Order: sequence, then C-alpha cells, then structure tokens
Amino acid sequence: QSQEVSQARIDYHVALQALQEHGTRMVCTGKMHTDRICRFDYLCYSSEAEEFVFFHSNSSVMLPNLGSRRFQPALLDLSSVEDHNTQYFNFLELPAAALKFMPKPVFVPDITLILNRFNPDNLMHVFHDDLLPAYYTMNQYSDLDDEARLVFMEGWSEGPHFDLYRLLSSKQPLLKEQLKNFGKLMCFTKSYVGLSKMTTWYQYGFVQPQGPKANILVSGNEIRQFARALMDKMNITRVEEMEKEGGSGEDEKEKEKKDDYIVVFSRSTTRLILNEAEVIMALAQEFQMRVVTVSLEEQSFPSIVQVISGASMLVSMHGAQLITSLFLPRGAAVVELFPFAVNPEQYTPYKTLASLPGMDIHYISWRNTKEENTVTHPDRPWEQGGIAHLDKEEQDRIQASKEVPRHLCCRNPEWLFRIYQDTLVDIPSFLEVLKEGMKTKPSLKKAKVASTVHPGRVREPKCQTSVQTTNEAKLTVSWQIPWNLKFLKVREVKYEVWIQEQGENTYMPYILPQQNYTFSENIKPFTTYLVWVRCIFNKNLLGPFADVLTCRT
Ligand code: UDP
Repeated sequence: QSQEVSQARIDYHVALQALQEHGTRMVCTGKMHTDRICRFDYLCYSSEAEEFVFFHSNSSVMLPNLGSRRFQPALLDLSSVEDHNTQYFNFLELPAAALKFMPKPVFVPDITLILNRFNPDNLMHVFHDDLLPAYYTMNQYSDLDDEARLVFMEGWSEGPHFDLYRLLSSKQPLLKEQLKNFGKLMCFTKSYVGLSKMTTWYQYGFVQPQGPKANILVSGNEIRQFARALMDKMNITRVEEMEKEGGSGEDEKEKEKKDDYIVVFSRSTTRLILNEAEVIMALAQEFQMRVVTVSLEEQSFPSIVQVISGASMLVSMHGAQLITSLFLPRGAAVVELFPFAVNPEQYTPYKTLASLPGMDIHYISWRNTKEENTVTHPDRPWEQGGIAHLDKEEQDRIQASKEVPRHLCCRNPEWLFRIYQDTLVDIPSFLEVLKEGMKTKPSLKKAKVASTVHPGRVREPKCQTSVQTTNEAKLTVSWQIPWNLKFLKVREVKYEVWIQEQGENTYMPYILPQQNYTFSENIKPFTTYLVWVRCIFNKNLLGPFADVLTCRT
C-alpha cells in the first residue's frame, strides 16, 4: 500500500514539475472559432474563478496563436451549435511561475473531452447537439476511447437524459458543478475541447428562421452506425436487419409481414393528440397492422428504442420525441403531425433527418387545417404557449391568425401559442395524407441497389479536330472508363461532356452513353474549345471532371 501511495506521490510530483516547466500546450484544428477543436496538455481550471487557465512557460505551445483575436469573439464553440454567444470557450493566461502562489493543483489523469451540452432537457437537442457530435468527436481522436472522461461545462444539472450521456464512455461524466470537489485548481493532463459539428443537420433559427443547415455533411450511414453503437450499449437485442421489405424468400416475407407494426409516440402533458384511440384504430384498420403506443412518461428510453427499432411506421406529433426515428429500421416511415396554423415546411428537423442520403426513411407530414379541431391554451405560462401576458390587440391578432409567419428562435409567442395546441386529428384527412404519402414510398430494394460509390475520373481524355469548310468543323472527344468501374456492377453508366468556346462564359452540356463522340453542330473552324468530361452512375452519382482539354479546330 505504501508503495502505491509513494507511486502516486511520484506521479504527482512528475506532473507538477511538468506543468511548472512546460506549462500548457495547445494545438488546434480549424480555421475559425466555429470549426475548431483544441487538444491540450495541462489545461487547468480554476473553480474559484470559474475559468480555464493556460500556463505560459518556455515550452508552452499555443496554436493557433491568435493574440487578442482569441476574443473576437472566442477561441471556439464549446457546444455544437454554431457561433452561439453563450457557448464560447476561452481561457485566462498566467505565467507558470504563478503556480508557486496558487493552491496545489489536482491532476485529472483521464483523457478528457470538454464540451457544453446545449439543451439537455430536450431529447432532440440531446441527440442532435450532444450525443452524435460527442460520439463522432471521440471517433475522430483515437485516444478519446471508452475510458475517456467527459466534462460538461454548460452548468446544468444532470437532466432527465443523463443515462444517455453515460453511454458515451465507461467513466461517469463530470458536471461543471462537480469540478469544485476537486479543489481550487484542477489540471487535465490531456484534454480535447470542443465538438465536431460534422453530424449536425439543423439550425434552430437564431439568426435566420430555423431550417436544415446550409451544408449538411452527414449521411444516414453515420447516423445509423451511431444508433447501432448506442443500442449495443443499451443492451438492446437488435432484431437483426429486420429491415422492412428486406426478406429474400417468400416465407421470410410472410413472417416479416406478421411482425410488422406501427408505433404511435404519444406525449402525455403537452401538444396532445386528443383522439389518440381513434387514430390508433384508423391506423390498424388502414394498414392491417398492430399498433403500439410509447411515451417518455411511461417507458424507459431503452424499451422505447427496442420497440422503434423494429417498427414499420412511427406516428407522432411534432416534438423532440421524434428524434427516436433515428432508431427506425431502413425502409420504415415517419408520420409527423402538426397543430393548426403551423406550416410543416418551416419546422423540418425530423423531415431533414429522414431525408438524409442513405437514411432510407420515408417522411410524411399531416397538419390540422380545421380550426374547430384545435384546443388552445392562452392562459398557460408563456413558455407553454400562453399569451395572456400580451396586449389585448396582440392576443386578438394571434388568435385570428391562420398561420404562424416565419420567425426567429426561441420565444416568439405566436409560435409557442400554436405549437402547444392540442389537436383532434381529423381521421379522413389523416388517412388521405397517409395513403397519398405511402404511394410515393420507394421500395427498400431500390434504395439498396442505388449504391453510394461514385465514379472516378474518366481516363485518357483526348480530342481530335478537323476543319470541313470555311464554316464547318468537327470535334471528336474520346476517353476511357473510370478505373473503379471495372470492379462495379452499375445499372447505368453515362458521360457528361461540357464544351466551351474559349473566352465565352457559357458552355454546352451533353449526356452521352458511349466513350467517344464527334460534335459538328455549333463547332466553328479555327476556334479553341475547352472540353470537360465526367462519368455519371445511375443518373445522380457524379464523378469528377477529368483535366480540361484544349482543342483547336
Ligand atoms: N415531452 C414529453 N411529453 C410531453 C411533452 C414533452 O415527453 O407531453 C418531452 C419532449 O419529448 C422533450 C421535452 O419533454 O424531450 C421538452 O418538450 P418541449 O415540448 O419543450 O419541446 P419539443 O418537443 O417541442 O422539442
């Protein structure tokens, strides 16, 4: 035992000496505060000052060295929400010599990921802003493994979904509040600060009305792998690839058919479906399937995921619980219901998720268009959509309005008033929307065949020219197939050729099935043409252009 203690002392001594001699070292990725993640040796945190501290010494490293631009507006975003001014990360600086006058630091030996959760009370935010980004940030840095320590600096308490955060690593995540318990000064031996935004698909409307992110970088594949990893951690026995319509033999198909069921995700406190029983009956009758209901108030989260992961269809009011559609099997459908005066086109976090390339979830929305079927709650607190605190005039305007105009996040009273209505679902219009929507549902077989492999560059592109008469010329372009094509079974291979007369700013595009073509229309003698060629698989998988050809007639 004494051996252990002295060992710990030596480690402590070594660590303290390293900190004093080397100070803090920081190396970051990213050009902007919005895409930056930093790795630190010996980043410290003063629970007294509630600030991170960077200790300067002769061998400190600070890359990027931004000078005071570090405060314009910050070194990095600590949450995955882009450029939110309550989520910035920075540190204070001190000379390492100041350590002599400071409380003895406590060292955290674990490799640590430091981040802000954005809104841990809301399930959509938990998954979209925290779990997925943290999962893939940890994928990005291999030393952030199952033993990594997560530290949540947003300052909230555990919240209702803390068990989900616990799935990210085997070590208990730390809250800002708990850092005090480690003493006045704690130093993270090795840490990463910030979250990858690569997997986020939605912006919540802080600077422009909410909607899909401008440049989505995630596909269904990554979402599904994350979902699978989480299910494994929750010990959910996946009904392995019980993908709808996926059976090969007829027997199998028959068996699957019997297992098909619809899930209605119900909310029990706000934004209710007032005639849920009727909705369930209508669904069962229309699709000849079993219908099960789940709710966050009644089931454990893993048991909900278990049910959803085998469902053919998920039906729910608009709301955070719909993020669970990421656990649906490929080929399933999501049906999202919207209260009166709420335009489904303007609130699309779940539509965007379902529509990610390769997600293979069919999305359908229904909206209540009958005002007599809505139940409003003007007298509730404002955050549940109450409007009693507003001028009479404004209340009247909101009550009379038939659609919430576009708005910014997050406290627009008209939006909150409408989104917290309860709804009596009009069964005929609901079934109509469902029937129409299911007509355009692609079969999973088709989706599966559509591969995601892109063509390579066409090889050996060449042009030959000839002049026929004073105003006629020919331009022959030829090329070889992309190198990867010979290993692939591709349903349809086409080539696209762009021809531009040098100096012009328009070009003529052509789609061709073969590997060479002689152009004579619109080809002039004694003229220079620029020619680009690329390959296209199955109509929409574009390859890169080969180097431009310069062809003189
Ligand atoms: N919630 C729930 N049942 C309800 C109302 C809300 O389970 O009746 C959950 C909801 O899924 C979300 C959180 O409580 O995780 C906050 O709900 P809120 O209505 O504020 O957000 P929204 O669902 O509109 O994103």
